[in-house]
Amino acid sequence: MGRLFAVEIVYRGIFQKTLAKNISRTIVLAAHQEGKPGISFGRYGDSPERNGIPAKNFAIVATDDVTLEEGMAKYEPQEVDITIAVDDTLAKGVESWAWYGLQPINRLLKPGGTLIVTSKEPPETLIAMAHRKECPYRLAIVKGIPSFSGLWVYKDDHTDVRILGAIAKLLPELVSLESVQKAILAEWNDPLKVTSAARSYERISTVTVEPHQGNPEEPYRFELPKWWEMREGIAIPSIPRGGAIQDPESQAMGGYRPERNPTFKKFTTRTMRPVVDFETCIKCTLCWLQCPDSCFDVTPDGFYDANMEACCGCGVCEAVCPVPNCVTMVNEVAFCDNASQWEMWKKDKESYRKWLEQKIEHRPERSHGFRYRGQYEEQIPAMIESGGE
Ligand code: SF4
Ligand code: SF4
Repeated sequence: MGRLFAVEIVYRGIFQKTLAKNISRTIVLAAHQEGKPGISFGRYGDSPERNGIPAKNFAIVATDDVTLEEGMAKYEPQEVDITIAVDDTLAKGVESWAWYGLQPINRLLKPGGTLIVTSKEPPETLIAMAHRKECPYRLAIVKGIPSFSGLWVYKDDHTDVRILGAIAKLLPELVSLESVQKAILAEWNDPLKVTSAARSYERISTVTVEPHQGNPEEPYRFELPKWWEMREGIAIPSIPRGGAIQDPESQAMGGYRPERNPTFKKFTTRTMRPVVDFETCIKCTLCWLQCPDSCFDVTPDGFYDANMEACCGCGVCEAVCPVPNCVTMVNEVAFCDNASQWEMWKKDKESYRKWLEQKIEHRPERSHGFRYRGQYEEQIPAMIESGGE
């Protein structure tokens, strides 16, 4: 029996679809250069994709046809040699639309497997974000701002080939750098992309993540329902009536919080989150009205508190707020929990002001798609030249 290799690419739906396809497809084409059969496919359960929802592609490669057929008897691999997260905020976990509850980014990694993340952050930040795992694994960072584009416009900043170069270094039994370079040339006919893959190959390094490191939170567990437990037809219960909020200080009842799905939280969709300056808020209600996900809880004192378990980070509240800098979208990497901002503000307004100022400073360039004509043309040469550094 030959050897089977499995790579999963975890990406944000729509914005990184082409990127994920380029990576999984080129892994297989590079393996073909060495006579290894393989298959690249998207995770069916994540389709149709939605903006920002975590989704997956897989590349399965074997040393011979029979091993590949045997490996594909199960549609989706139960464990992988490499997990690639093409956005660092995915390190907090993923909640796709195909399963219930938040799952660790490293869930499928084999003992000693490698998690590759595109990020500007240091290893400590990413390790703290990812859930703990029973066995050690390796973390490798492909340096750079996570690459976002869309279905119709591809931001070709070489993230795809830089990840491929890293794979050749980290798992040479799967593909060599030479095979990767041949596949890149056949696919894009671009010598600059070949060079980017080689530079990434030279620069990539790993750190070992031990079982005591990482987010200690117990990952969500579930049991699939038995067929006799399922309801007839497809019935989705309506959301019950919302509940009033108890003021944590006075214990008085007031405010309004809509009922939400206790299992499907959807916050792993976001790459940025809104922070609210309650001192300047004029209680105009616009954020509450316009939030497409009904994320705002009305507080007993009439403010609007974006619920961070429900917010998917679309930025509409920032766009509609009429008060300058009252709602600001901040990189999700800057937060380690989903605590209520309003409760923090009520407890200690001076500390909240400092916290807010510090968070707003933490606003590296991130963008879903391009915001002005020529943005990609400006950014891409610098990105390619620096190799993401
Ligand atoms: S970013 Fe604002 S508008 Fe969008 S889901 Fe979150 S709270 Fe709602
Ligand atoms: S839109 Fe801005 S000013 Fe209006 S309630 Fe929301 S946070 Fe306050």
